[in-house]
Amino acid sequence: MKKLLLLFPCLLSLVVSFAQTYPTSADIYLGLKKLNVLGSVLYIAAHPDDENTRLLTYFSKDKLYRTGYLSLTRGDGGQNLIGDEQGVELGLIRTQELLSARRIDGAEQFFSRAFDFGFSKNPQETFQHWDKEKILSDVVWVIRKFQPDVIITRFPTTGEGGHGHHTASAILANEAFTAAADPNRFPEQLKYVQPWQTKRILWNTFNFGSTNTTSNDQFHFDVGGYNPILGKSYGEIAAESRSQHKSQGFGVAKSRGEALEYFRTTGGVPPSNDLFDDVDVSWKRVKGGEKIEQMINSTIALFDFMQPQRSVPKLVAIYKSLNELPQSYWRDQKIKETKDLIEGASGMWMEAYTSQQYAVQGDNVTINFVLNDRLGVGAKLDEVIVDKFDSSFSVGLEKNRNFSFARSMFVPETKEISQPYWLQNKMEEGYYNVSNQQLIGQPDISPAYIVQYTLTIDGEKIPFAKKVNYKFTDPVKGEVYEPVFVVPAATVVAEPNILLFQKNQASVKKAFVQVNANRNLSGNANVAVQSPVYTMSYHDSLFSLKKDNNNTYSFAINSSKLANFKTTNLLGFFNTSHNQDTVYGYLSMRSIDYPHIPSIRYFFPDGIKMLNLDLQTYNKKIGYIVGAGDKVPDALEQMGYEVTLLTEKELARNNLQQYDAIIAGVRSFNTNEWMSKYYDKLMNYVENGGNYIVQYSQANNIRGGKMGPYNFVVSAKRVTDENAEVTFLKPEHPVLNFPNKITQDDFKGWIQERSIYHADRLDTNFQTIFRMHDPGEAPDDGALVIAKYGKGYFTYTGLVFFRELPAGVPGAYRLLANIIALNRKKEF
Ligand SMILES: [Zn+2]
Repeated sequence: MKKLLLLFPCLLSLVVSFAQTYPTSADIYLGLKKLNVLGSVLYIAAHPDDENTRLLTYFSKDKLYRTGYLSLTRGDGGQNLIGDEQGVELGLIRTQELLSARRIDGAEQFFSRAFDFGFSKNPQETFQHWDKEKILSDVVWVIRKFQPDVIITRFPTTGEGGHGHHTASAILANEAFTAAADPNRFPEQLKYVQPWQTKRILWNTFNFGSTNTTSNDQFHFDVGGYNPILGKSYGEIAAESRSQHKSQGFGVAKSRGEALEYFRTTGGVPPSNDLFDDVDVSWKRVKGGEKIEQMINSTIALFDFMQPQRSVPKLVAIYKSLNELPQSYWRDQKIKETKDLIEGASGMWMEAYTSQQYAVQGDNVTINFVLNDRLGVGAKLDEVIVDKFDSSFSVGLEKNRNFSFARSMFVPETKEISQPYWLQNKMEEGYYNVSNQQLIGQPDISPAYIVQYTLTIDGEKIPFAKKVNYKFTDPVKGEVYEPVFVVPAATVVAEPNILLFQKNQASVKKAFVQVNANRNLSGNANVAVQSPVYTMSYHDSLFSLKKDNNNTYSFAINSSKLANFKTTNLLGFFNTSHNQDTVYGYLSMRSIDYPHIPSIRYFFPDGIKMLNLDLQTYNKKIGYIVGAGDKVPDALEQMGYEVTLLTEKELARNNLQQYDAIIAGVRSFNTNEWMSKYYDKLMNYVENGGNYIVQYSQANNIRGGKMGPYNFVVSAKRVTDENAEVTFLKPEHPVLNFPNKITQDDFKGWIQERSIYHADRLDTNFQTIFRMHDPGEAPDDGALVIAKYGKGYFTYTGLVFFRELPAGVPGAYRLLANIIALNRKKEF
C-alpha cells in the first residue's frame, strides 16, 4: 500500500479505495456516531485545489455529515510541476491527487464533464468553451443524486474569484440549486433520480490576502477544533489532504487553533444559529427510523474498544432492520455505512488480488481470494461472484485462519479495456463526451474486476464488494497495491509525434511503428501507417511475438510520394490472424506512474502528425536549457536543427559560442535556481554574437535571477483568446521577414491561448513586435520582446510555442525559425 489511510472505508465508496486498510476502534466508534447523523453538504468549485479542505474535514469528521466536493473540472489545464503531462493526462493525475486528498479528509469526490481548457478571464469566455446547459445538467445530476441539505460554493457569481472558471462554477451552482428542484428541468434524468430541493446555498467568503470578502457581520463559525478520537485538529488533517496536490506543489503547513469560516447566503433562507437550521439530521427523517436510532444508541453505549467484535450482533440487527424499511436515500446510505462497520468491527479480512498488473484480452488471469475471520465472529462464506464466475460455498471460517483459493479466468476479447470513462469518446474542445448518464459525476475509472463475497454473520446473509487489486512485494517499499488493468492483446506506438516536411524540398523521413505483445501472438501479420493521403504497409507471414516483447517496423516516407497536403495524421496499425485468433491493434497505452498516486493507464489511437510546411530555417546548432519539461526540443529536431540539451553541468562546461542559438525551456527560471550562476556567461555569449531566447517563466516564482542584458519584469499579463487579433508593430523587423515572411495566416489555428506571462516595464533597448489583447482588455505589447546586445540578440517571449509546436500549428514553427535566425550567425 502506498499511503496509510486514517479513514475507514465507510467514508469512501468501498470499491474505489486504493488499498485495503482497516479502521481502528476509535474510527469504528466515530462511525457509529455517524450512523445517527442524516445530513449532507456539497461543496462546489471549479478545480482540484479550489476546495476548502479544512471546512470539508470539519463537516465530515466533526459534524459527521455526508460531505461531497464537486469539482467541475479535473484540472487538465493547470501547471504540472512534477512532469511534462499536459491536458487530459494532467487531468488524470490531478483526479488521483484529489481522490488521495478525499481519503484523508473523508469527503466524497465528484466531477462534471467540463474540461479545464486553461485560464479564462470571465465566465462569458468560460461558457463559450463549456456547453453551459450540459455542465449545468451535470451539476443538477450530482445534486439530485447526492441530495445535499446545504450547498456551499467557494466563489461568488460576481467575479471576486478571479478565474472565469471560478465565477462560472458559482453561477452554475446557484442555477442548479433551483433547477434540481424543478421537474421540468432535465426531465431525462428523472428515469434515475427525483427532483431535489436543497435547503440553502451559501458562498464561503474568503480572505486570500489580496482579496478579503469576509466580514464579521457574515454568518460564521469555528472549524479549527481538535478531535481527540483522531488525535488531530481539523487544520492538521486538512493540511495533509491539501498536500496531496503534489503536481501543483501545494504542500502546506498544518494549522492549529481557532479558524473561522464566513458565509453569505445566496439562495434559500439564511441560517441564524446553525448552518443546518431547519434541517432535521436525525432518524426522524426516515419513516420507522426512531427504532434504528435507539438500536444505534445502545450499540454506542455498549461499545467495547478492546473487543469491537462484540458490537457485531447489534450491527447485524441494525442492518437487518434497515433492510426491512422501505427504500429511501438515507436508508440505502446507512446500509452501506453499517456494512462497512460490520466489516471493520469484525476485523473480517476479505481480499481478492492478482500477481499480474494486466488482464490481457484473450489470455488468462489468476485471481487469488483470501478471507479471514480475524476476531472470530463465526462467519460463514456462502458465495463468491466475479464476472461470470459464480461459486457457492458453505464454509465456516475459522477464527484467525486464512481461507484462500485461486481461480484462473479467461479474459474474453469482449471484456472492456480499462479506459477512463471520460476518455472513451472523442472529446469536444470544452468538455468530455460521456453518453452514459449513470457514469456522469463518477470520479474514477471503473475497476477491472469486483468480487462479491456473501457471508452469513449472525444468521444474516450480507454481500460485500471488493475491488480486485494487483499486489506485489517491492524490496524497498514492501507490499504494494496497484489497480488491475484490462488491456488489448497488442498495442502500438507510432513515432515520432511530428514528422515535418518542408514544402517543395525532396526528403525522406522515417516513421516507426512499434508493436507490443501483451500475450503470445503469431500468424499472418500486417503493420501499417495510414492516413487519408498516405498509406504504407508491411506484410509478415511468419510473424511471431512472445508476450511482453515488441518489434519495431520502420517506414521510409518520401515527400515526393505525398500529395500536396498541409497536415495529415498518420495512424499506426497492426493486425494478426492465426486459426481462430484474430488481433487488431491500433491503440497505444500511456503509463503514468508517480509514487504518490495509484498507477494510471489510458489508451488512445497513436498518430504521427505530418506537416508539410512552407518553412525556411537558418542557423543549425541549438543549445536547449531544460526547464520544467516541454516538447519543444523534439519539434526543433524535426525542423532540422541539431539540439543539445543543456543541464547545469553542460552550461558550466560547454563553450556556448558553438551554439547558433540558446533557448531556455519553459519555466527555466522557476525550476532552476542555478540560472543566476550562468547569467554572466550567457550575456557574454550574446555580446559575442549569440542568440539567447527565453521562453516564459511564471511571474510569481522566479528563482533563477535576472534574464536579459537590459531590465524588464515578467508580469502576469496574458492573452488567453487563441484567436485574438495580432497587430504587427514593426512590419520591417527581421523577426517578421527572415527567413520566413510572417503574415496574419501564421496566427491562424492556434490552440488554447496566444501568450502568457508577458514582459513588462521594458528598458528602452527592447523592441516590441506584436500588440494583442483579450476581448474587453487593454492592448499589450509584451508577448515578444527583442533587444540587440553587443553583436547578438536577446529575446523574451510569452508566446506558447510549447503548446503550438506539438499541436502542429504551422505559424508557430515559422515564427520560431525567425527568432532563431535573428543573429544570422552562419552563412550558407
Ligand atoms: Zn481554481
